[in-house]
Amino acid sequence: MKGALNLGKVFRIDIKIHWTFFLIFVWVVLVELQQGGGLDSILFNAAFILLIFLCVVLHELGHALMARRFGVVTKKITLLPIGGVASLEKIPEEPYQELLVAIAGPLVNVFIATLLYFTLPVSDVMELQLPEMLEELNQLSLGNFLFYLFLANVALVVFNLIPAFPMDGGRVLRALLAMYVGRVKATAIAAGIGQFIAIIFLFLGLFYNIFLIFIALFVFIGAYGENKMVQHRALLKGHKVHEAMLTKITYLHPDDSMKKVLEHVLSGTERDFVVMSDGKALGILPYDLIMEPSRDKETLVKDIMVKDFKSLSKDAPLGDVLGMMESGKSRFFPVTNENQELVGAIDLTNLNEFILLQSRLQF
Ligand code: ZN
Repeated sequence: MKGALNLGKVFRIDIKIHWTFFLIFVWVVLVELQQGGGLDSILFNAAFILLIFLCVVLHELGHALMARRFGVVTKKITLLPIGGVASLEKIPEEPYQELLVAIAGPLVNVFIATLLYFTLPVSDVMELQLPEMLEELNQLSLGNFLFYLFLANVALVVFNLIPAFPMDGGRVLRALLAMYVGRVKATAIAAGIGQFIAIIFLFLGLFYNIFLIFIALFVFIGAYGENKMVQHRALLKGHKVHEAMLTKITYLHPDDSMKKVLEHVLSGTERDFVVMSDGKALGILPYDLIMEPSRDKETLVKDIMVKDFKSLSKDAPLGDVLGMMESGKSRFFPVTNENQELVGAIDLTNLNEFILLQSRLQF
């Protein structure tokens, strides 16, 4: 995500904070000033927000560390005004693993809330009569600070467990359904429910709280995207790279000039190229590199090609390739046979074409 400030690493995971997060502080100061609050109440609220977001980071670490037990790497946790996002490399496909990863986040907040409940103790506040309670809660004391933090953690648990896939509760729902009807159907049902709840969020957001509108969009788009991805993966199951790869492609020579490369780009529909010499792939030349504005026509391919690239075996599973392309590292891979000889290449356009054909064959 662009515009995120790095706060450091915890358990080898980058903790980042998006710049829009600071808008919350601006908003708090404005609201406080409008209500005639002084510096003390502004600081009280600002410190409170910082601590809530510390709880959110711990929540995300709960997901990430549980995922790590199942061999899933989390590169970063990003804090946004609408909450935290742990960027898991993938979601475990075993339902019980997804269930544990999804529930681990809210459980962290259950733990924090329980701890606060007994240290305060919350029951003392609850025993007060309503007018006294309101009077008491209006004061800027440490006790109230912790009481509000307790409420915030309870709210985090309740909110996250709303079954709006891909929120935590929705993931729990998908995992439970997947145990009975399989992952593809479970995802379709959970995504449908998620999108329905997103529409309710949207309406509530219009009248009550603008953050709900952002969450509605996040849920709606997330549910659509993940449902599509799971369907696509299912269509690719059992298929191998050689079934979808491009075989009629133009190979570049390391000593070709950019003038020649541009002729290839203009005369055909290929965008990315494999650089080959003596039947071996030496590098790849992606479209972005070819089209760089400062590119000199006399530059040689070997001077700008990407030498650090990954080749795929023609017998590799296509489902894995889709995952690699969607994770964004590269969308173009040379393909080799068992003797490491180049036999073609595969890109996202072609893979999507293959998915489309498979979906036609199914219905
Ligand atoms: Zn969560």
